[in-house]
Amino acid sequence: MEKLIITAAPTGSLPRKSKTPHVPITPQEIADCALRCEDAGASILHIHVRDEQENPSDDPERFAAVFEKLKGRTELILQISTGGRAGTDLESRAKRLQLRPEMASLTTGSVNFPTSAYVNPPDLVEALAAEMKRLHIKPEMEIFDLSMIENALQLQKLGFAVAPLHFNFVMGLRGAMPARVEHLVHCRSCLPVDGTWTVSGIGRAQLPLGVHALLMGGNVRVGLEDNIYFQKGELATNQMLVKRMADLSRMLGRKVATPNEARHILSLVDKDSRS
Ligand code: MG
Repeated sequence: MEKLIITAAPTGSLPRKSKTPHVPITPQEIADCALRCEDAGASILHIHVRDEQENPSDDPERFAAVFEKLKGRTELILQISTGGRAGTDLESRAKRLQLRPEMASLTTGSVNFPTSAYVNPPDLVEALAAEMKRLHIKPEMEIFDLSMIENALQLQKLGFAVAPLHFNFVMGLRGAMPARVEHLVHCRSCLPVDGTWTVSGIGRAQLPLGVHALLMGGNVRVGLEDNIYFQKGELATNQMLVKRMADLSRMLGRKVATPNEARHILSLVDKDSRS
């Protein structure tokens, strides 16, 4: 089995300092937290940024500030979210790609969040995919239901994305796929043979789905974006969640990938040929 790739998703769009003091909000906090997560075993950093009021921000300057603070200090694969909570149109979501992260998230369909609709029309998805392809950014296909797997494969068929594809199954969010291992097994069975995958269990599903994924040969995303608790009643820090997954993986006989090993497993384009 390949080594386990752990993605840290430390910030997201939702948790605020009033809910947990451990959520990193400013670029400095995000960068410092990222380095602690790297030490704990993470190889990918999934990045959202916030404004002064802690609201989700689409300001490319803020993404640039995170990159700047991390420059020369980390091997982490930087993965920018192109999620639409901060701004829904193409321009708002594509501007940050000009930073040319190695990876970016790409949701390939629409879904109802608990209190809003997350709308990703086909032309927007194709345009984001095309821009990622042009900039040699590897998309992480964000899968909230089965149709989105098919949509991702269709993107590849139409030339908007290049194999091998990488998928993230987001499970346990109300309105999307329930966090059940049967669904995880089925999702995996829908992937092309060369596809790689990770799972993001929401809330209390983060730990059990992560353990299933690591035993199944998949990869795991943890962090306060998806879950703020270490266990019932105890708030987590991001690095605690990363470390627990790394420890469990080693305990269960699977080694944890370094960022450079993750680059190889995910077939990321090497730096020299990206220019
Ligand atoms: Mg996200």
